[in-house]
Amino acid sequence: MIVDNHGRVLDYVRLAVTDRCNLRCFYCMPEEGIDYLPKKQLLTYEEMERMLQVLAGMGIRKVRITGGEPFLRKDLLAFLWRIKAIPGIEEIHITTNGVLTAPLIPELKKLGIKSVNLSLDSLDRERFFKITRRDELDRVMATFYALLQHDIPVKINAVVMEGQNTEDIIPLAQLTEKYPVSVRFIEEMPFNGGANNHPSLTWNYLRILDELQEIYPGITKAANAPNATAEHFSIPGHVGNIGIIAAYTRTFCGTCNRIRVTAQGGLKTCLYGDDVLNIRDLLRADTSDDSLKAAFLQAFGNRAKDGFEAEDHRRFLLPVFQSMSTIGG
Ligand code: SAM
Ligand code: SF4
Repeated sequence: MIVDNHGRVLDYVRLAVTDRCNLRCFYCMPEEGIDYLPKKQLLTYEEMERMLQVLAGMGIRKVRITGGEPFLRKDLLAFLWRIKAIPGIEEIHITTNGVLTAPLIPELKKLGIKSVNLSLDSLDRERFFKITRRDELDRVMATFYALLQHDIPVKINAVVMEGQNTEDIIPLAQLTEKYPVSVRFIEEMPFNGGANNHPSLTWNYLRILDELQEIYPGITKAANAPNATAEHFSIPGHVGNIGIIAAYTRTFCGTCNRIRVTAQGGLKTCLYGDDVLNIRDLLRADTSDDSLKAAFLQAFGNRAKDGFEAEDHRRFLLPVFQSMSTIGG
């Protein structure tokens, strides 16, 4: 079991398998995209597998595959089968924009993927286009329905942004009436690859909740899973539920059980902090498993207590020029 210097158990890694993306969500990257890393700077599947074997041996149980758009990485499914075979890894989850995902869902089902987070900020074609700069709503919706059809638990992630998609809050919430999905509204964070200055947050979790309460006065707080980043709510008569993630207000750091590995093998022990270890260099220097473990333990024993402390310790202050596409969300 891994326990950090604040007594929090770490059992969850989020792994960005690529920094490439087929959308250009304006809160994540500029219209022209980001400068993608040269391929040789990305971790190879063999390197990721070895890293996961070491982490699983230490106590990591849950893996989330993210990116960039993970399904842009060639042969991802074969890699997922390899992760599934790693002793100690109990759950694989995926975060995707859903553009390329629908045809792969039968195999994701066979793989036993525990849940898929589908990013969907708008149900309106024009607003979807304005936000993602691509006309791909139909393919994303096809993924949504295919996930439901194959009974893979789905969570919808919607970043709420002033002047962009606040009209979508209620239509998205309405999906939970008919479908057993969790619709999670997320505060915008300042990781947009230098696309724009992060405006002061006008839609924080309280305002999102106010908006929901106005239309659904019966909305009530529901139980949260341990270590959940979302506060969950139920609407009477709805089969799904609502989550609100205070990603910028950072209300959940006290129970944070997660670490992140960026596409180039940087270890982040907090989303708001700098990379604290270059795993790729260690792997490429033929470091032994014991030395890798020691390096991980050193990093896990020095975690910031919360996202504000991590932010204070950054070499460059926020807003940063980093894109969420390299960090993985
Ligand atoms: N491309 C995949 C997708 O969009 O689902 C996976 C990677 S994406 C970086 C992971 C999550 O981060 C998405 O749900 C996305 O909405 C979220 N995200 C990206 N930039 C964000 C920002 N600036 N603030 C809040 N959430 C952000
Ligand atoms: Fe791509 Fe996901 Fe970033 Fe949108 S949020 S640009 S889909 S990586």
